[in-house]
Parts: sequence; structure tokens; C-alpha cells
Amino acid sequence: MILKPKGTYDIVGENSKYYNYIKGVFSTVCEYYNFNYIRTPIFEDSSLFHRSVGESSDIVSKETYDFKDRGDRSITLRPEGTAGVVRAYIENKMYGEVDQPIKLYYEGTMYRYERPQAGRYRELTQFGVEVLGSDSEIEDAEVISLAYRAFEEMGIEDVVVKINSLGDNESRDNYRKALVEYLKPHIDELCPDCKKRFETNPLRILDCKVDKDSPILKNAPVITDYLNEESKKRFNKVLEYLNVLDVDYEVDTSIVRGLDYYNHTVFEFQTEMEGLGSANTLGGGGRYNHLVELLDGPSTPCVGFACGIDRLMIILKEINKDREIKNSLDVYVLSVNEEERLTAARLVQDLRWSEIKCEMDTMNRSLKAQFKQADRLGARQLILLNSEDLKRGIITVKDNLTHEEIKIDEAEIIDYLISNL
Ligand code: AMP
Repeated sequence: MILKPKGTYDIVGENSKYYNYIKGVFSTVCEYYNFNYIRTPIFEDSSLFHRSVGESSDIVSKETYDFKDRGDRSITLRPEGTAGVVRAYIENKMYGEVDQPIKLYYEGTMYRYERPQAGRYRELTQFGVEVLGSDSEIEDAEVISLAYRAFEEMGIEDVVVKINSLGDNESRDNYRKALVEYLKPHIDELCPDCKKRFETNPLRILDCKVDKDSPILKNAPVITDYLNEESKKRFNKVLEYLNVLDVDYEVDTSIVRGLDYYNHTVFEFQTEMEGLGSANTLGGGGRYNHLVELLDGPSTPCVGFACGIDRLMIILKEINKDREIKNSLDVYVLSVNEEERLTAARLVQDLRWSEIKCEMDTMNRSLKAQFKQADRLGARQLILLNSEDLKRGIITVKDNLTHEEIKIDEAEIIDYLISNL
């Protein structure tokens, strides 16, 4: 038997319901916020990720799936969604479109060669949005509130937005210098990864999961003290908009995000739920005003986030949203002979096209087994076909909760069901 690759899983059974539910909520919310769907390739030229995500990031330095295709091209399976969206934005010259900013949402699988554990996979699914072309603080707040409201819609209530500002280039450079100065005498006390980060990307030491409780990091200088006036003003404006939009946030100076391309606002959505460990981060994002230029496009301010659908699935199962999400059927049509089956097939089709979710037997089950099957599927109403009724143009409907039976004229069956579901 051939087994699935390590770090992957099949979305089947109950998981399919949760998966579609989450995707559905996100897409609906995005449409209300006037975002358009974008799909980009799962594989891209390797240099796209090396340039955008950054050589020093964990993702590119040790997690990408890289290979040569049969034409000897260097290909990488996408580890995240932003780089592909930005590539598409530039290649399709979206910066020239009349309606600005460009507001896009995507969902799809990403690939990272990580050590698999609960809530951490090698094939993961992310949902994300990007706003390209606007530098307004309203957009920072809009993308944050979009995700926040989507979590709320899913019934995940204890979500906190941890937010920070990395400031503009000048602020970030000043801070980096101060941080390096401060860390230099302590560097041997930090974990091996942090030692590497000290050389390549010292800011990343601040969100190290290993050293996060170390007094060295707790006493480190904080970025907010190094923001210049302009950056401070901008950050406060974002917070003011978040207040107006009624989003629960905490300023957390340890949030720096793993990728090189962020500036100004950075944020993460975290849940206080138990049992998730470091997988309690549902998603994150930030502003990246220099990435489009870095990828040879015109200077374009952008902001976006990505959330892990896999983790949301675990959480939704945990908070037991099943009744809303699990299989439930409006109508089950019972039939035992061929005449009844022909009628059932037509009836089921008519009901489905009237947006009534229904099913019939196709396994030659006995009547008793069909009743059981209807219960298993959670059918609300049963249609009991019999040849006598059919001759008279009548159909028997049984309410599967109250067990009341009623005979209805065939022509009125759909109206009856619509008003009794
Ligand atoms: P990132 O692009 O690393 O900021 O990740 C954004 C979100 O994607 C995280 O907060 C997680 O919810 C999810 N995520 C990242 N990596 C994984 C993974 N290996 N497995 C499952 N979900 C992940």
C-alpha cells in the first residue's frame, strides 16, 4: 500500500465539512469587503521566493521544496502566497488599472519542509488577502478587521490581534543597530538559531520560540522607542482605526514576523485556546511597501495577511461547531420498487434544483434500512413513496422530528417542504 507523504493529510469525511465551511466564510467576508479572487501557480521560479521572502528567513533557508524540472529550470513549490500575488500584480500590470487599490484574496496549498507536529504540516493551506496600491492606515485596519470578523463569524471568540510597528527604513535601521549593540555581549547565551539570526536578521531573534522567556530578550530595547515621528504617527493612526472598528488588539513589541519584506504595521492573530502550543497563531501579516519594487515593479505600498486553514479546522472541531457544520439533510426520499425509484429520482432532482438538500437510496436497501440511513444523514423530512399514492398524484411526507405524517398533492410538495424545513 502506498501511503501519503510525511506531513500531509487528506481532507476527507468530517474535515471536508470544516474545510469548506472555513473557505466559505472567508470568501463571503472578502466579497463583502470588495476583494477579488486571485489564483496563482503552486510552483514558481525559485528566485521569486529567494528575493522576496529573503535568503535569511527560515522558510527559504531551510524549508522550501526546490527542484529542477525536465527543462532544467529551478522551481520552488510556493511556501507562502504573497510573493506569487505580487509577481502576478506586476506581470499583469495591475498597477495600471483604473480602480485602485487592488484588493485580492486567495486560498490554496503551500509547501514547507518543516518538522511535522500538531497543527504544523508540510502541505498546509492558507487563506490570505493583499491590498496593493494604498498607503492609507485604513487599509491596515481593514485587513486586520476582515480576518477578525471572519474568526468571529466562525465562533472563535478569544482571538487577540498582537500588533507592532517596525517603522520605516530609518526607524528599523536605528533599531537594528541598537539591538545588535545590546545583544552582542549576550549572544553565546542564546540558542544556535539565534546565533545565526544575529548575523543574518537580528530582529528575528525577538520572535524566537526557544528563547522567548529569556531575560535577555525581555530586557532588550523595544522597537517602539526607536520609531521616528512619522512612523509613530502612522502606527497610532492604525490603532485609532482599529478602535473605531472595534477590534481587540494588544501592542506587542516582540512581534517582528519572520519575513524580510515587512515595514510599519506587523500583526498576528493569536488564540488563547489550550492544547495548540506554538500552533496558537492563526495567522499574521503586515505592511510591505518595498516588495513590489524589489521584484522590479513600480513603488507600491501594500498590506496583507495569511491565515492557516488547517489550524482553524482543529480549533473549530475543538469548540464543537459540529451541529452547524456537520452533514445534515433536508429531505430523504424512500422508495422500494422500480416505479417508486423512477419517481424518487425525478423528485430528488426537482427538490435539489429548489435548493433543498436531499438524498435517495441507491443501494437497494430495505425500507427499514432506508429509515435508518435517513436518520444517520440527519434528514429533517422524509418522503414515503408508494404506488397507491402515486396513482392518485399524492405524496406522503413524514416529519422526522415530530413523526407526524401528512398527505400532499404532488404539485404542492416543493412549496410544502420549503415552508416546513
Ligand atoms: P506565516 O506565513 O508563516 O506567517 O504563516 C501564516 C499562518 O499559516 C500561520 O499563522 C499558521 O496558521 C499557518 N501555518 C504556517 N505554517 C504552517 C504549517 N507548517 N502547518 C500548518 N499551518 C501553518
